[in-house]
Amino acid sequence: MTIRQWVRPNVLQMAGYTPGEQPQGKPVVKLNTNENPFPPPQPVLDALKAAVDGKLRLYPEPSARPVRQAAGMLYGIDPDQVVAGNGSDDLLTMILRTFVDPGEVVAAPDPTYTLYDPLTTLQGGQFHTVPWKADNTIPVSALVALNPKVIFITRPNAPTGHATPLSEVVRLCKSTKGVVVLDEAYGDFANNSGLPLLANHDNLIITRTFSKSGALAGMRIGLGFMSRDIALQMHKVRDSYNLDKLAQVAAVAALENWDAYEPLIQAIRQQRNHLRNQLNRRGFQVPESQANFLLAQVPQGRRSGKEWLDDLKSAGYLIRYFGADPRLTDKIRITIGTEAEMTGFLQAVDKLLTDN
Ligand SMILES: *Cc1c(COP(=O)(O)O)cnc(C)c1O
Repeated sequence: MTIRQWVRPNVLQMAGYTPGEQPQGKPVVKLNTNENPFPPPQPVLDALKAAVDGKLRLYPEPSARPVRQAAGMLYGIDPDQVVAGNGSDDLLTMILRTFVDPGEVVAAPDPTYTLYDPLTTLQGGQFHTVPWKADNTIPVSALVALNPKVIFITRPNAPTGHATPLSEVVRLCKSTKGVVVLDEAYGDFANNSGLPLLANHDNLIITRTFSKSGALAGMRIGLGFMSRDIALQMHKVRDSYNLDKLAQVAAVAALENWDAYEPLIQAIRQQRNHLRNQLNRRGFQVPESQANFLLAQVPQGRRSGKEWLDDLKSAGYLIRYFGADPRLTDKIRITIGTEAEMTGFLQAVDKLLTDN
């Protein structure tokens, strides 16, 4: 007898998502999971510390209303059009629970965020991909031909960093009979956002996270923006208290003090453009990125992508490598850090380039 007779076949068969490494012990520079290299602004930390008291014995506001109201103020949107998630990954799960029955299709252009596939499988859905077009536009007709219930568009895309034109998102919303999810996990680093499109497209959902620009990955906070009608349905499928009390306090403080984030985001964008130039000068091929990371094709005829991963790790720099995808074996993804971290990283790269 084994447990195999009890576990759902789709769970048995799936590999599960592999998150980027969170190192324990020896200090390294973390350039592997796109966290913010800066701490959250002081008012956010102060609000959190002030909230650690005896009231933690009480349940939090079930729908995270204070967070939805603060988001409504900042983004100029009705709080009833906002749903909060325990990280934006929680929102992705809620979206699949709301719309996808077993056997139904979920689609995305790829390469893309590697979590959509296992989340769809868990829901009993079928995940299908179509490659991005060479000019980074959306393969609209090929996606629509799959007859998907949900289509995920990551913008800026992970792990490539490109931001497909918003006109492409509009074209997709108009062409599909399903729901379009615009994953803006990196939206604050981009030149523009799809939020203004919500007014005219009731099959559009936009997700954002506090884990990257918000410097609060440890708190697990995400926001979803959608029509009031979709929000009503999404509230039914979420965990009853999906945002804990401290996460709500942190989210409200971050939204109310968003000005304090602007210089941090600006510094990251500046380092991103600087690192891109510097890597291109050293024989890497690095396309423009609108996110807080770069996807760099390593110089030909020297060490492989995997060897760069290992050698940089030995030098104290953790980066990300997606060897399972044949299109990405010669590429490495580097999260943008502080100026000092990027200077040190380039020195490590230079040392490896002269060694071999
Ligand atoms: C990081 C990331 C998320 C998840 O963010 P959390 O809020 O930490 O769950 C979602 N989508 C993409 C594309 C991401 O890169």
